Amino acid sequence: MTSAAAPTMVHAKAPGKINVFLKVGALAEDGYHDVAIAYQAVSLYEEVRAYPADDFSVTVGGTVELSRVPTDATNIAIKAARLLARRTGYRGGARLEIDKHVPVTGGMGGGSADAAATLLACDALWGTELPRDEMLALASQLGADVPFAFTGGTAIGTGRGDQLSPALAKGQFQWVLALADFGLSTPAVYSELDSHRDRHAQDIYPADVAPSVDANVLQALRAGDPHMLAETLYNDLQAPALHLEPSLAGVLELGEENGALAGIISGSGPTVAFLAADLDSALELQIALSAARLTVVRAIGPVHGARLVTL
Ligand code: ATP
Repeated sequence: MTSAAAPTMVHAKAPGKINVFLKVGALAEDGYHDVAIAYQAVSLYEEVRAYPADDFSVTVGGTVELSRVPTDATNIAIKAARLLARRTGYRGGARLEIDKHVPVTGGMGGGSADAAATLLACDALWGTELPRDEMLALASQLGADVPFAFTGGTAIGTGRGDQLSPALAKGQFQWVLALADFGLSTPAVYSELDSHRDRHAQDIYPADVAPSVDANVLQALRAGDPHMLAETLYNDLQAPALHLEPSLAGVLELGEENGALAGIISGSGPTVAFLAADLDSALELQIALSAARLTVVRAIGPVHGARLVTL
């Protein structure tokens, strides 16, 4: 009997995401918020190559601004590989190469996609064959958005965003993304939301403790109708992100003036996601925003989650 030789490299990829709906619950005593998110995975992929090594290391390249990505043990890909090794009792390490295409600190879950692709790549490299449900449990220990980067498609996330249930979706949506040349820190945006709610406690309804996704969003996704989805895009983090970065309001306006059905800040921003009616309007919008000197990429969604790339 011959046993298969250990691979010399494993290549995996995982998608970034847009939150087409994001409602934030009241601040809980532990300092976190429950959320209700409708996630859509989009065709900007993070690629991770894992090579056998005695220890853990990472190098990072790609098409996006990389200066905010750490290359030490705080990189989430290293955390993911170490967590998998600990969980499975694997004694070696991995040399990881990340090729990034999702904007960094852009509110599109790029780091989460790196973590999901790393889990998958190292599991195949080491032959640890962790069952999928255990892999998802490791993913949620790494971050609230990591399980979704693993599963992809369209899903509803509740709890911290990591309790996923798949949602039905038809067709493909066309997105045009305006990338910022700065990042927004997710914790800073949440704390701006909390202060806004404190300041206006007299005038606004208190936030639900356990928020839920509106039925209209689910219906628009099921129908695959961009006009319907445009009406239901919603993000509680948009107002605080705009408060921290007022220039984003001009970007939203510019997209809507140039044919976008609607625009929304993606997650905690600063990426602005515009939904277009079809490919032609997406291309026109891309040209108009590029002419205004914005950095723009197009993406479609939904797409699959983390996968091994076979050569
Ligand atoms: P989310 O939408 O999930 O909140 P994000 O897209 O706004 O995340 P990321 O690009 O995932 O933001 O990165 C968030 C932070 O994590 C950055 O400040 C960065 O320094 C740190 N980080 C750690 N590992 C990575 C990685 N592999 N890629 C990008 N950032 C990383």
